Amino acid sequence: MNLWPQPKFPTVLKAKKKASDELIVIAGPCSWESKSQVDIIFDKIAPKASMIRGGVFRAGTYPPKQFGWKMDLLKYAHAKAQKIGKPNVVDVLDVRDLEKIDPYTEVFQIGMRQAQHYALLRELGRQRKPVILKRGSWMTYNETMGALEYILEGGNSDVFLCERGSVTNMQHVRWELSVSTIAKIKQETNIRVIVDSSHGSGVANLVTPLALAGIIAGADGMLIETHPEPAQSLSDANQALSFAEFHRLAHTAKKAFRLVREGKLLS
Ligand code: MN
Repeated sequence: MNLWPQPKFPTVLKAKKKASDELIVIAGPCSWESKSQVDIIFDKIAPKASMIRGGVFRAGTYPPKQFGWKMDLLKYAHAKAQKIGKPNVVDVLDVRDLEKIDPYTEVFQIGMRQAQHYALLRELGRQRKPVILKRGSWMTYNETMGALEYILEGGNSDVFLCERGSVTNMQHVRWELSVSTIAKIKQETNIRVIVDSSHGSGVANLVTPLALAGIIAGADGMLIETHPEPAQSLSDANQALSFAEFHRLAHTAKKAFRLVREGKLLS
């Protein structure tokens, strides 16, 4: 009996290339906190973003007290996203929530703590909306490919892998962004990759250099947490960029992306 079969990822390896001519910028706060916070994010950030994201159902490391279900804010943010014609990214924790969330999202996100929740992966594989899979901070390259395989097998090929860092012995970061994972997935597959240097460091002043590193390594997009008053953010305050920092990063990142895609960095 072969207890350790050679891993195979036939569907992921066969996935066709999707056009991504422009850097995908997914931006928003860690959590939607209030209607006025939603208003200001849409006012100041949405114009520079390709997709809007704000945590609604959050799975925190510890059971959240002030969070939980915020359907009213989800509906409010979704209506605003619809108005400007940008996809609203929403995290899904459980198969049972899909029906309730579906009307208010254009893109499902599987948070890192659900990255090996295979029933959820299979169900989202049957959906016909894009899915962003965040790699679990413990997951190896093969385990990540396996999780992607679960989604793609269901027939949903509109999938992004989000690299958001690994557990690490380095104590200056919360999680260590794996730039090599980005480069390897881009070399071996046509899966689009998003670099999340917000969670991939947990430290605001490392978010910009690491996002750029991810883009140089081949990422198709970046996920950035930003907040009107980072220090006041109810969650992940240490990694939130101010609007000014976000705008500077968005500008530089788009330039870096163009250089990479035009082959100018390597010429
Ligand atoms: Mn967060």
